[in-house]
Amino acid sequence: MLSDIAIAQAATLTPIVNIASKLGLVADDVHAYGQHMAKLTQATVNRLQAQPAKAKLILVTAINPTPAGEGKTTTTIGLTDALNQAGYQAMACLREPSLGPVFGMKGGATGGGYAQVVPMENINLHFTGDFHAISAANNLLAALVDNHIYQGNALQFDTVSWRRCIDMNDRALRRLTLENNTHTGFDITVASEVMAIFCLATDLADLTSRLGRIQVGLSTAGSPILASDLQAEGAMAALLKDAFQPNLVQTLEGSPALVHGGPFANIAHGCNSLVATQTALRLADYVVTEAGFGADLGAEKFMDIKCRQSGLRPDVAVIVATVRALKYHGGVDVADLNRENLAALQVGVANLRKHVTNLRQHFNLPVVVALNHFTADTEAEIALVQAAVQALGASLHVCHHWAQGGAGAIALAHAVADQAQQASTPWLLYADDLSLTEKLDTIAQKLYGASGVTFSALAQQQLARLAEVSQGLPVCVAKTQYSFSCDPKLRNVPADHALHVRELRLSRGAGFVVAICGDVMTMPGLPKQPASSRISVDADGRIQGLS
Ligand code: ADP
Ligand code: MG
Repeated sequence: MLSDIAIAQAATLTPIVNIASKLGLVADDVHAYGQHMAKLTQATVNRLQAQPAKAKLILVTAINPTPAGEGKTTTTIGLTDALNQAGYQAMACLREPSLGPVFGMKGGATGGGYAQVVPMENINLHFTGDFHAISAANNLLAALVDNHIYQGNALQFDTVSWRRCIDMNDRALRRLTLENNTHTGFDITVASEVMAIFCLATDLADLTSRLGRIQVGLSTAGSPILASDLQAEGAMAALLKDAFQPNLVQTLEGSPALVHGGPFANIAHGCNSLVATQTALRLADYVVTEAGFGADLGAEKFMDIKCRQSGLRPDVAVIVATVRALKYHGGVDVADLNRENLAALQVGVANLRKHVTNLRQHFNLPVVVALNHFTADTEAEIALVQAAVQALGASLHVCHHWAQGGAGAIALAHAVADQAQQASTPWLLYADDLSLTEKLDTIAQKLYGASGVTFSALAQQQLARLAEVSQGLPVCVAKTQYSFSCDPKLRNVPADHALHVRELRLSRGAGFVVAICGDVMTMPGLPKQPASSRISVDADGRIQGLS
């Protein structure tokens, strides 16, 4: 089959205004960025938000992935196209790609095969500039903090906790000492609190007040210093005002997609902007949205952070699984994943079982399993996974949208739409009023199958300091995506592990506490062979090698 970029470049795209008109929007409702990308105007978003939501919300999540990704984005797009082919009116809500993975190991985030959003090169590189705006707003606040100290330090900063950010995997920036001897560092933009605020704010007023609530440091008297103490929030919001409008693009089959905001699911909360989801729920009958990485990370935070704060509740969850990743959980090396191995699969299918059980038991979510078909999958392997899912009383659909587009996922579309029509009452994993430790314990024991939680000496001090201010806030666990545990080497369903919290960070504006666990880094590094080495541009401006 052709490469993702070859398929994308061969496609004939529909003018974006025509895509908008499929949603009942007119030309004045969008700001076009060229022919094929647009932002919905703020006036349009505001008008829609005042209407009641009408759509069913479908959450796409997954088992613990291999380093390549198991196809959640691809399935979100394929399912949206399949729903539209089957006569339901559907649209997708996705996150914007980060340059970190684009140039690092994983590549782009616009789907794959015949289930992609386009123009894939633009969406993967810069897009409409949202992440640059978010970095600029973040770094304006950092400059204001240091300038305040330089200009006499009237607020009496003792410690500065606010960090800079850039949308790049640049490990050399993890730790640095500034000219004024402040120790600080950079995070990747998708892990910054400004990104989280951008994705959780209900409107521009809420965006501004959340930005004002960001805690940037502590005074010598030990009181919190907020961005609003520096009068930073107005200018930060001004930098973000265009970025805050959802981006409209299309799938290869012309289904509308809002691609907006992009926190990572391992080191941040992992869902596209609330504004995009809320807007989509008023434009289509079915909204398909992806939460990042496995259901232990993305789906948990989708429920416990995004849904808790907004009142949203999904109608059904789709768990994407692949035969290859289940064999990987059964102990097979990445290099051998294309060979049939029923014994390993029999072991590794436990990872899928645990995710299905978690979503049903701990969130009361109806679950449909989508087996994302790879060409190397054998009949016997598919039958084995099918039987394991049936034994749980859940349904599994083998999907071929990567190879066939929406036509390859029609059965999944009907199953998901049928399920979404039935009444469901999903709940959250933990109550607001538990302590931070109790919340972490609940996540670790119930979802991760851990014996409990351990804290570093630093995290213990932070826990004591945060006890009061963290009341009522959910916790955003930052940990590896490869395992239920915080050790990336422990595949499948590990037993005898504890969740080790290394550091706690208060995100007051976003409204959660980040618990950094195991060795996970909020500024990733590039691999030895970065994907950037394959990317080029020809004399006509056509990009090659992006995957
Ligand atoms: P996720 O969103 O779960 O991280 P993606 O949808 O981004 O995963 O897919 C990761 C990569 O795997 C993409 O490059 C995509 O082209 C590829 N891929 C997805 N599904 C298939 C499939 N069925 N066969 C082959 N490659 C696939
Ligand atoms: Mg994805």
